[in-house]
Amino acid sequence: MTDVVIVGGGFAGLYTGFWLAKKGFDVVIFEEHKEIGIPHHCAGLISISGLDRIGLLKDVINKRIFFTKIRRAKLFFHNCIRKLDAHEYISLEVDREKLDKLLAEKAINNGAEIILGERIKRITRDGRVKASNREINAKVVVNAEGAAGYLLKLLTGRKYTSPILAFQFDAKIRKEIPTDCVEVYFNTPDFFSWIIPLSEKEVRVGVVSNYIKPLSEFAYKFARKRFGEIKILRKYGGLVITDGPISQFVYGKIVCVGDTAGQTKPTTGGGVVFSGISGIILVKVIEKHLELGIPLLWYEKIWKRILGKHISFMKKLRSLFFFTDARATTSIAKFIPQFIFDRIKGDFDFQIDAFLKLIPLIRGKTRGKQLGTTSHHVLE
Ligand SMILES: Cc1cc2nc3c(=O)[nH]c(=O)nc-3n(C[C@H](O)[C@H](O)[C@H](O)COP(=O)(O)OP(=O)(O)OC[C@H]3O[C@@H](n4cnc5c(N)ncnc54)[C@H](O)[C@@H]3O)c2cc1C
Repeated sequence: MTDVVIVGGGFAGLYTGFWLAKKGFDVVIFEEHKEIGIPHHCAGLISISGLDRIGLLKDVINKRIFFTKIRRAKLFFHNCIRKLDAHEYISLEVDREKLDKLLAEKAINNGAEIILGERIKRITRDGRVKASNREINAKVVVNAEGAAGYLLKLLTGRKYTSPILAFQFDAKIRKEIPTDCVEVYFNTPDFFSWIIPLSEKEVRVGVVSNYIKPLSEFAYKFARKRFGEIKILRKYGGLVITDGPISQFVYGKIVCVGDTAGQTKPTTGGGVVFSGISGIILVKVIEKHLELGIPLLWYEKIWKRILGKHISFMKKLRSLFFFTDARATTSIAKFIPQFIFDRIKGDFDFQIDAFLKLIPLIRGKTRGKQLGTTSHHVLE
């Protein structure tokens, strides 16, 4: 019997698998595609503090697994623009394909087995994992299948998240743009579009919405309006999760992590840092479960204590700010003067912290208090 079988060789599965293998457990990771990191779907914008928290910043910098460093954002509403300027770099535009490949290499170097090109058809609460022509029994099954959540639906008979459709492409442009500034456009119902610089003359354009069809036409038109002539280099589709965590992470011997568990930021759909932090909590609980027999349900409890309030704050922010009519979002933005944006500082993963820093009264009361989160150091 294998200690841990992981379904999905995306960020959440590979990160969890790497740490479990490093701790000496038998780990088998199944990835349905033939190559790690392909097909690509993520925009790749990840905070520097978040990468540091999950222990990947040094590798990303030293191995140059990023395109650009970001310190500014321009937010475009219907008829007003707001700017965020952090003065120092706050995010990296990370090469997700290379990052996932690096994690896979680390997992293999620590003894994990990665089986590529094999789709898992079914997982059961007693730890059976069924592929097309084999079945493995595991002490713990980690479901890291991503946003679509087919296996979870098969297991429970219900769908837990309502993903939003995304379309992205990379393009060459004619005129040079600054490489430290992302542009966010509130031009789609219920979400936004983005332009991220990959270099002075290359951009990543993304559009997310369930209300626009076809998304690709909208995205090309939007980019041409911004840059004139463009040369499209690559295109990707994807599903963005903004619902917040699903009600239950643990089903017998099965534990869910990453997008399939709804562990993304409801305001942006960003999930790399939260998948990493969730992975850290999960690895610690699996370690204690296999060594001492503590219940896997502790994962859910500890997760809620550490990340619960951050996500529920972001869920409220999302319901306050995002409407199916993009003009309603604009009307709200117009009430927030630029000087408020000038004062937004701090951690963009833990947006409640940035919000609290806006209110000196609350800041005074909470000074010195650590708003709960965790880092990879607990696994060292
Ligand atoms: C358009 C878009 C832009 C995004 N931008 C950002 C961003 O800028 N910053 C950020 O932090 N996050 C971003 N995200 C979110 C981020 O990509 C995810 O949160 C992150 O990749 C974690 O995903 P995961 O490992 O849970 O799922 P995935 O990355 O989707 O990995 C799941 C893996 O499981 C495999 N799989 C699924 N089912 C099976 C099966 N039955 N058998 C075997 N293998 C299976 C899949 O092939 C896949 O490789 C974005 C997402 C999208 C769609």
